[in-house]
Amino acid sequence: MRMSKLFLRTLRDDPADAEVASHKLLVRAGYVRRVAPGIYSWLPLGLKVLAKVEKIIREEMAEIGSQEVRFPALLPREPYEASNRWTEYGPNLFRLQDRRGNDMLLGPTHEEMFALLVKDLYSSYKDLPLSLFQIQTKYRDEARPRAGILRGREFIMKDSYSFDVDDAGLEASYQAHREAYVRIFDRLGFDYVIVHADSGAMGGSASEEFLAVSETGEDTFVRSPGGYAANVEAVTTIAPDPVPFDGLPAAHAEQTPDTPTIATLVAHLDEAFPRDDRPWHASDTLKNVLVMLRHPDGTREPLAIGVPGDREVDAKRLEAAVSPAEVEPFDEKEFAANPALVKGYIGPGALGADNASGIRYLTDPRVVDGTRWVTGANEKGSHVIDLVAGRDFTSDGTIEAAEVRAGDPAPDGSGPLELARGIEMGHIFQLGRKYAEVLDLKVLDENGKLVTVTMGSYGVGVSRAVAAVAEYSHDDAGLIWPKELAPFDVHLIVAGKDETVVAGAEQVYADLVGEGFDVLFDDRPGKVSLGVKFKDAELVGVPTIVVVGKGFVDGVVEVKDRATGERQDAALADLIATLRA
Ligand code: ATP
Ligand code: MG
Repeated sequence: MRMSKLFLRTLRDDPADAEVASHKLLVRAGYVRRVAPGIYSWLPLGLKVLAKVEKIIREEMAEIGSQEVRFPALLPREPYEASNRWTEYGPNLFRLQDRRGNDMLLGPTHEEMFALLVKDLYSSYKDLPLSLFQIQTKYRDEARPRAGILRGREFIMKDSYSFDVDDAGLEASYQAHREAYVRIFDRLGFDYVIVHADSGAMGGSASEEFLAVSETGEDTFVRSPGGYAANVEAVTTIAPDPVPFDGLPAAHAEQTPDTPTIATLVAHLDEAFPRDDRPWHASDTLKNVLVMLRHPDGTREPLAIGVPGDREVDAKRLEAAVSPAEVEPFDEKEFAANPALVKGYIGPGALGADNASGIRYLTDPRVVDGTRWVTGANEKGSHVIDLVAGRDFTSDGTIEAAEVRAGDPAPDGSGPLELARGIEMGHIFQLGRKYAEVLDLKVLDENGKLVTVTMGSYGVGVSRAVAAVAEYSHDDAGLIWPKELAPFDVHLIVAGKDETVVAGAEQVYADLVGEGFDVLFDDRPGKVSLGVKFKDAELVGVPTIVVVGKGFVDGVVEVKDRATGERQDAALADLIATLRA
């Protein structure tokens, strides 16, 4: 490919809406172009990288015997109605109607369609196990499309699905996928971690995510020295042992004027009610936070959450804990509508299905029987001290919504947790029989009995992978592609107008192409300065840059490594060998 012909205009300025490096650079280097928020066009350079990501995925899926199919993106409502996702997806689903008024959608993911296809064609255990995949455009009307193609509203996903007759089969299919994903992400060159994506309450590693470690990632994950790694949503709290009630002091309400925040309350306690053993700590207080849940059917339900006062409610953990309901703020209007709630002084006494507010009350797992709390007395300017869980109040259950902090113990006892950020690149998930059941996907087993098929669902963000690689592999000057993903193998630059040099560069170009290298040849005429050519080469990020200049007459060209910046002179005769090394 000649630069003079390539459909490319590099840009000197960052796009105004870009915050992260991959977004800036992919636009500036001419890989993608914005059409609307979260919706991008792929240009020639971008498409080449995308195709390489797809190639790696196809090879590794073939390796585990998964077969490629392709569904439409435009889908009828009925299958998603059967699974209830027409409702559950809420505003994230792109919905439309055809000319006859039939409801349609643009597929956000395809569990239903795969299950129905297999149901259509297969009927016996002998047909299984089966693994199918597709690489296809997905649509999600994300609330916050972000960082260019990193979080798009239209994006490309590889999704695969496994079908087995029994749990052991599903486990084997899951493991095969896991190994394929390890190979895929190794080849993509990621620094990644595999984290538990759910609390494992269903047993085993029913769901894991592959996160590219990156400061700009939206996912927070934790890891411990002993090898525990989990998405922050999946971390479970180690509850302390219950404490016997015997000998615990009685609860007493006290005047605590002007203490609407935990900090003001703790300061006041130390002054007015000092402890003998130590100062009061925020973790001695029980903070009650109200939110409004919106259930998939549109109904709204207030929820009170009790967490130790030294911790915030973590929005993502809360969302995961109440899903598929969505979390909305509990605003002044709601407070006004519920006079039992005294803002700043809300306590368990007013919460719970059987109490004044009638609001469901869930507490942090640390609130076990016998623990003593300072908490709101449901009266302005008053708190209760020594309110004992299990004795003076009970909640309607526990909830994992409090923030996880560095130093918290790993749930499996493997040491203190450290927090880091990542970009979710892939997700593997033992779905089980949920979709098969509602869509009636059954096969005859060995005994001629109908059994429900068990499924796995596995996704890779294909377009996101391009951005994620760019995110961690760049410098101030531009992109730096790993060899396996680069749009070209070699970026060849002719340095000079001299006829011999130009002819020499043409010769090198022909030779390299003849040897099977995919070469981007910056043959732009002399009016494009050498400085511009070098800048463009750095921006575009092909791993090896070859410069044909004055040295050519002596049989020497320069080879530059884009990543390290190292330059070396290579004898023309050895150029191919140098590039292959
Ligand atoms: P996220 O938490 O980032 O929204 P998800 O849990 O919704 O991801 P899945 O439904 O498991 O993602 O989809 C499989 C893969 O598709 C993800 O691991 C991710 O790599 C990719 N993906 C999901 N949403 C987007 C998006 N809006 N833009 C680009 N890629 C996405
Ligand atoms: Mg999502």
